[in-house]
Amino acid sequence: MDTPIPFAELVYPYPGGVPPAAATELHEGIFWMNLPLPFAMGQINVWLLADGDGWTLIDTAPAVPECKTAWETLLKAHLRGRPITRIIVTHHHPDHVGLARWLADRFACEVWMSGETADKVAFLLGDGKAPFEAAMSGFYRRHGVDDPRLHVEFESGGKYCRVVSGVPDRVRVMDDGETFAIGARSWRVILCNGHARGHAALYCEGSGILISGDQILPKITCNISLMSLEAESNPLAEYYASLDRLRQLPEATLVLPSHGRVFQGLHPRIRQIEHDHAERLAEVEAFCSEPRHAAAISRLLFPQQLNDLNRVLAFGETLAHVHYLERAGRVKAAISNGQLMYSRP
Ligand SMILES: [Zn+2]
Repeated sequence: MDTPIPFAELVYPYPGGVPPAAATELHEGIFWMNLPLPFAMGQINVWLLADGDGWTLIDTAPAVPECKTAWETLLKAHLRGRPITRIIVTHHHPDHVGLARWLADRFACEVWMSGETADKVAFLLGDGKAPFEAAMSGFYRRHGVDDPRLHVEFESGGKYCRVVSGVPDRVRVMDDGETFAIGARSWRVILCNGHARGHAALYCEGSGILISGDQILPKITCNISLMSLEAESNPLAEYYASLDRLRQLPEATLVLPSHGRVFQGLHPRIRQIEHDHAERLAEVEAFCSEPRHAAAISRLLFPQQLNDLNRVLAFGETLAHVHYLERAGRVKAAISNGQLMYSRP
């Protein structure tokens, strides 16, 4: 295993960050805005890019009163009389897509997102999920969860509907590798899996800037979850593959993440993240010297008291690591008393 890379190797060119509901110009025509989040992580960054006679906005914050109030301030203070003419959403999580419909209705503009993001938003906000719920429950019970109601509610979008303002009327699908102009700059779409299927990062080669969404964050590793609806996927392997793609970008790339401060040090940050996951995998592998179900493994990895949302995410993260180890032949699964037990071969 590599030696851990200290956080000190990351460089934060804007050490003061940006105050809540304010805007800081990073490069000509690229503004960093910061909105307060009433849940995990405390804040989200969104990016306002000058685009001809208007603005392109990247990500929106969730549909909660605090964020709507912050937006009223931002819209009054920073649009300079020009409208938002396009909204780009990096992925389907509520802190990114939450106010897309609300803002798009106000400015009568398109919302750009990957096809997978559009499908997921439509599924989570749509009807007709009841037929999936028995299968979801069975999945979590097999993994040692006695009461799977929280997990089922999360996967079927029970709370999602309360913090996302709706499916945008006019969606324009972005494809991997597509390039398009925002103002004078050209941006390339890099679609990544692992954190969210079809997560879009945007890269501007001319300015050396990566808008990374949640795919790369400076201080925390983004959640990598296996959920029952994608039970056959291998999200951690897909996330590693996305890191390999992002590693092709230059070392000096300025990274604009969705949470935390703008930074340089893409390559050391990727090595740190890989190291953190490798440590977690080794911990799970060692624990599986005896047969364990995922619920027990999750309690090992996350012994602290967690709120409902974080408990669901922690369990998804556990499953992603267990599943990766199983696919790699480092643990094997066997059914015992109706539960899937993992042990070293
Ligand atoms: Zn996310």
